[in-house]
Amino acid sequence: MICVSIGRGRHRHMIAEHKHLVENGIRLVELRLDYIQGEVQVRRLLRDRPCPVIVTCRRKSDGGRWEHSEEARQTLLRTAIVEGADYVDLEDDIAAGVPRYGSTKRIVSLHDFQKTPADLTLLHKRLASMDADVVKVAAMANHPTDNLRMLQMVHASKVPTVGICMGDIGVPTRILGGRFGAPFTYATFNDDRVLAPGQIGWRQMREMYRYDSITAATRIYGVVADPVAHSLSPVVHNAALAAAGIDAVYMPFRVPAEQLDEFLSAASRWPLAGLSVTIPHKEAVLKHAAHTDDLVKSIGAANTLSFAADGITAANTDAIAAVESLVAALQGDERATSDGLGLKTTLVLGAGGAARAVAFGLKKKGVEVTVTSRTADRAKKIAAEVGCKSVEWAARQRMPYDGIVNATPVGMHPNVDESPYDKEHLRPYMVVFDTVYNPENTLLIKEARSAGCRTVTGVEMFVRQAAIQYRIWHGAEPPPQVMREALKRATASAKQPL
Ligand code: NAP
Repeated sequence: MICVSIGRGRHRHMIAEHKHLVENGIRLVELRLDYIQGEVQVRRLLRDRPCPVIVTCRRKSDGGRWEHSEEARQTLLRTAIVEGADYVDLEDDIAAGVPRYGSTKRIVSLHDFQKTPADLTLLHKRLASMDADVVKVAAMANHPTDNLRMLQMVHASKVPTVGICMGDIGVPTRILGGRFGAPFTYATFNDDRVLAPGQIGWRQMREMYRYDSITAATRIYGVVADPVAHSLSPVVHNAALAAAGIDAVYMPFRVPAEQLDEFLSAASRWPLAGLSVTIPHKEAVLKHAAHTDDLVKSIGAANTLSFAADGITAANTDAIAAVESLVAALQGDERATSDGLGLKTTLVLGAGGAARAVAFGLKKKGVEVTVTSRTADRAKKIAAEVGCKSVEWAARQRMPYDGIVNATPVGMHPNVDESPYDKEHLRPYMVVFDTVYNPENTLLIKEARSAGCRTVTGVEMFVRQAAIQYRIWHGAEPPPQVMREALKRATASAKQPL
């Protein structure tokens, strides 16, 4: 079950949000009395409540907003109990002093904004011993394995327990609580008004992560990156899983570079079924792979991991997706042949992971590739590995090419007024491919269209690389249009025919 926390300054706004949530199918809300400005009228909030409530009044030291005396706070909580609130949240230092009364259930809670305590079992025992109907632990995650410890505590407990790791490292505990036996998870009313670090909006929790249909059998997938909050992979994969009715969920795993080895070594304890891999882990994951194909070996980087009893299999779907995107764009072009792309020469801008994958993919298709990068040495290195040419960044526009591929972040949101290639050098015979997908219509793409070039957007590559991952993981044909639409909605790009 999803419990939505409502924190509003006015009673009428809190009541209106409560009503709205119930009309939308929410069956439990948390009323955060500490957000109310002025005198709190508990009876007014509870009187005609449309669904069960948890009454919480959080001190500043526990992440709340309560500014008045502790005595007044505890009086409010006792009043809520007398008024028959369904649940009342009592912090561990006051729970023993507030006796059980009537039918109100007691949530005994602990908050730690610094760390996830080392001995969660002992902590849980102490909280449960305070006549708890529900134990709640919300603690900051500093390490991805904090999540596992928290979820294992939830799983092992006899008293219903909500265990949440805060911060963006802790997001998986919010999504997977039910899978490990938690009675509910907390979500916010509004995506932009989070009441605790790492909280997710209720719509996203319900519609994107399908929280209520996650069970112990649900397979776990995700994207491992640092940072990861901006990733649109959860949007695309979850939309596809929902459309196909596959019992799996896909989530962001923020894993700092120095913690990757430990995270992957613990994969079977979640258990993880598959991961997309992005910056900065694409190369570092390889040493964990028991199986790699020739493409991964030659590129030296993987963006897809599959977990099985006989070890991890690493794949690279970026290179294939880039080539497939160009093939689709060149369909009907008189230059295209059955085995070749129809591009004789192509300039790849950038020398990172995407550039490397694109350069390999194009070279394999017989294209004469030239790589250019702001940092000349990186371009030279890729050129040596791929067996192609490199050119100085300042000289990138001196020679004409059939194809131009942007594999730098130039033009990406919020720097939407930038382009890595001047429009004066664009020619109608060129195919211009921008791997940036947010926004879809970058300045480079817009200027290329104006110059009469064929264009390929990063949305097309992104959907294709995700679709290949889907095939690898689920052994089924993905719904590309569902994925494309989900990505476009998320980037709020204008509808464009692909
Ligand atoms: P990366 O490994 O960090 O490499 C980024 C490259 O861009 C480096 O060569 C970097 O040069 C260059 N660069 C960065 N800022 C620049 C600037 N202001 N001017 C000129 N060059 C600049 O990143 P990546 O994984 O290759 O990803 C690059 C881009 O590709 C991403 O931003 C993303 O939009 C896109 N991408 C798209 C897809 C897709 O499916 N559509 C998939 C993967 C990536 P230095 O070495 O000098 O820093």
